[in-house]
Amino acid sequence: MTEDNKKIYDLLDQMHYDADCELNFDSPFELLVAVVLSAQCTDKRVNQVTSELFKVASTPQEFADMDICELEKYIFSCGFYHNKAKAIKSLSQSILDMGGMPTTRDELMKLKGVGRKTANVVAAVAYGENAIAVDTHVFRVANRIGLVHAKTPEQTEAQLMSAFDENLWSHLHHLLIFHGRYTCHSQRPECDKCLVRGYCEYYQKLTSGISTQKASK
Ligand code: SF4
Repeated sequence: MTEDNKKIYDLLDQMHYDADCELNFDSPFELLVAVVLSAQCTDKRVNQVTSELFKVASTPQEFADMDICELEKYIFSCGFYHNKAKAIKSLSQSILDMGGMPTTRDELMKLKGVGRKTANVVAAVAYGENAIAVDTHVFRVANRIGLVHAKTPEQTEAQLMSAFDENLWSHLHHLLIFHGRYTCHSQRPECDKCLVRGYCEYYQKLTSGISTQKASK
């Protein structure tokens, strides 16, 4: 791990010292359901939905038994509710068929409808496994800063894993998400209040473009 990467990690940690999972859950299974619901949806909305949903169903058996139309009514406001309801029903049945909730990333990925990103979040947050789940924020921020030069989430995950010590992976994931949510927005990143700007490739390109323009006037 380079000194620059350690410095970037420390600066992100200074800015987002409270970075953590923002989804509410009382069990690894509830977290899995919440992560499925969070695709293309804010954590705030998911928490509103699950605060009611988990009162009526909170175990694989209860979701497997739940009428799919009933489930869709609860999760409607999260968007993509047909697909999400199907995914929750089918992963619940998979867990019952497997005889219990999987506890590792590799086992989680064997559940129907659970991809690598979802499995990484649950493995890291619920089971303390070292993992980096790459969502849109992690992908954008890691590439902007220049921590990675990647075209896909898979490449981003692999490059971050080789650039940072393993014990930092899970918290790095939260730091990059918080940075993307609260500072390094996809439109109009707030570079003026960003402590990382001295290390950021995007910022350096931006400012060298401005100074070139000034020099040519
Ligand atoms: S300097 Fe700007 S682009 Fe770079 S990480 Fe900070 S907010 Fe994002």
